[in-house]
Amino acid sequence: MIIWPLFNFFVGNGINTFDFIPQEPVFGRDGKQLTEDIYFSPGYSIFLKNLFDAWFSLDDPKVHIMLFEDIIRTLAGRVSKICQIGKGVCANAVFTLYPDGTIQPCDKYPRAYSNSEHLITRINEIDSFDEVFTVEKQRAAIGKQLKSLEMCKGCPWFAKCRGGCVYDRYMYYRLGMEGGYKNCATHAIYSHIYESLKEKGMLS
Ligand code: SF4
Repeated sequence: MIIWPLFNFFVGNGINTFDFIPQEPVFGRDGKQLTEDIYFSPGYSIFLKNLFDAWFSLDDPKVHIMLFEDIIRTLAGRVSKICQIGKGVCANAVFTLYPDGTIQPCDKYPRAYSNSEHLITRINEIDSFDEVFTVEKQRAAIGKQLKSLEMCKGCPWFAKCRGGCVYDRYMYYRLGMEGGYKNCATHAIYSHIYESLKEKGMLS
């Protein structure tokens, strides 16, 4: 299994806190997508499950994988500390200020489309940062993020996950959301972690 060499690389080099995120697509200058999305890939879900099994069996409190720890945190009824889990909508709280003075949502977000359609405003067009919250494009961004929660309809983990990372949702959304939550890798890993903890009698 490829997981152990990967796992041992980190731990063997004294890197005890790490995380993995899905590969982002690469776009050419003409906006054409050059690499495949892995969000729908069953291989990505299997990778996460195998990684969790390795981490769980190691049972070393010094080794932290944030995604798994935060899923467990929410399963235990606590609040997630990372934006991949438990937030769902971030356009009201996370902004990116670019060197050219433009203000956009989280910098991951536009990368799902390889363009700047997510421009909210420019720093020289507002008198104070509070004004950002009144800009029509900002409200539209929140509306769009809320709408993308449709993918999560019926997901048994919604109360814990709250829709995960909006960028990740957009990747599914962009690809048509076929199958809804059943194609979501976070759904798969939530179920796997829940079953693993239950089997060990760690959840009621
Ligand atoms: S579908 Fe995925 S992102 Fe949405 S609530 Fe379920 S696990 Fe989270």
